[in-house]
Amino acid sequence: MSDRVAEYRLDGIYRQRQEGFFMQRVKLAAGVISADQARAVASASIDFGKGTIHLTTRGSMEIHWLTETDLPAVKRALAAVGLTSRGACGGAVRGVTCASQGAVGFPEAETMAGRIHRHFTANPRFERLPKKFKIGVEADVTSRRHLIQDVGLVLAEGDDNASLYDVYVAGGLGREPQPGFLFENGVVEGRIIPLIEAIASVYTANTQAGKRLKHLIREVGEAEFRRLVALEPSAAEELPSVSGLPENLTPVAGVRLIAPVQFGELSSAQLNDLADIAAQWSAGFLMVTADQDIAFHLSDGFNSGEADSALQRAGFGTSQASFRVCPGSHQCRVGLSPTRDIARSLIEVMGPAAKGMSWALSGCPNSCTQPQLADAGIITAALVKDEDGERAPRFDLYRGDNQGFGVLVEHSLTLKQLCRKVQEIG
Ligand code: SF4
Repeated sequence: MSDRVAEYRLDGIYRQRQEGFFMQRVKLAAGVISADQARAVASASIDFGKGTIHLTTRGSMEIHWLTETDLPAVKRALAAVGLTSRGACGGAVRGVTCASQGAVGFPEAETMAGRIHRHFTANPRFERLPKKFKIGVEADVTSRRHLIQDVGLVLAEGDDNASLYDVYVAGGLGREPQPGFLFENGVVEGRIIPLIEAIASVYTANTQAGKRLKHLIREVGEAEFRRLVALEPSAAEELPSVSGLPENLTPVAGVRLIAPVQFGELSSAQLNDLADIAAQWSAGFLMVTADQDIAFHLSDGFNSGEADSALQRAGFGTSQASFRVCPGSHQCRVGLSPTRDIARSLIEVMGPAAKGMSWALSGCPNSCTQPQLADAGIITAALVKDEDGERAPRFDLYRGDNQGFGVLVEHSLTLKQLCRKVQEIG
């Protein structure tokens, strides 16, 4: 293995737990991908990986089981269809997310997500940030995803000429969860990119390597942070408005169909089937959702019953339970538990009430599946020696009520105790 492996992060590549293997993350703005691009991801996974694709809660796709020598060829295969991985990992502006697919304001959110993605991706001014920098654009506050971003934008009232956004700043989950705070409301769309530039510049100039923006706020306080941002030349800049064809790629959602994807794990064959459905029914575009499923906005005049039957024929029926799951110790280097196996065990003991809830399980406290935003969230907190001297995972259980972050209700449960708690929900 070359000694340049750490530098691959900016190209969206992490080492896997298994020595000699790598994960390639593909960055998608608002989770949107074309049918041809999805087919290219499926082919790259077959040609260079093991034919599986992982969907993330941030609307990205990940191909596992790549070798170092194949990485340039994978990059070329993705670039050939206009896909990029630049900044998908490492200290850069990550994939711009949107959990409001299907909302009335999604076309505007998709448009803004695309603009931010194009501006910051591979922009050398924003590729040496202290740590990851996450941006999300939402049509409303329902999903609470605006609270977990370094910059979270929520569409506010606007007029026909320009959209306005409420700007939340310095949120994040991980080991020290902190909801973002409202930095400014009603920011006109032309100011959004310059304002994010100002925030990212203050972050870079004042934060030690390895720390997120939330740490800077804790250190200097909101007032000082606002003062520093206001000093940046771009903080008040407004870019001229642009005109042309609409920038959103997905059809405006009249009917939205979901293909439930268990634990966000797709085979290449399944992704090809979904690409075919998108080509036929949703103007050639599909979306990775925040719940690790695939969504389609049907084109005008199409019959949702026929599209739904096509999904059923492709094997995408009803999901057993809404359960966000990260790769955990199956593939992730820092994973503490075999997440997919554990999720399967939990679904087995769930009653109807539990199955009707949203679930999320993270393989370590980094909380990639956003457990604090689920009805029931589970974090693998530690490995502890059991009575046989074996190190076994212990789990923290959070319960949410659709307000802010979920709260810790059980700490350091064994798997057996966790199963019992899930069973008790009924
Ligand atoms: S939550 Fe932890 S184990 Fe899961 S993908 Fe994130 S870093 Fe890896």
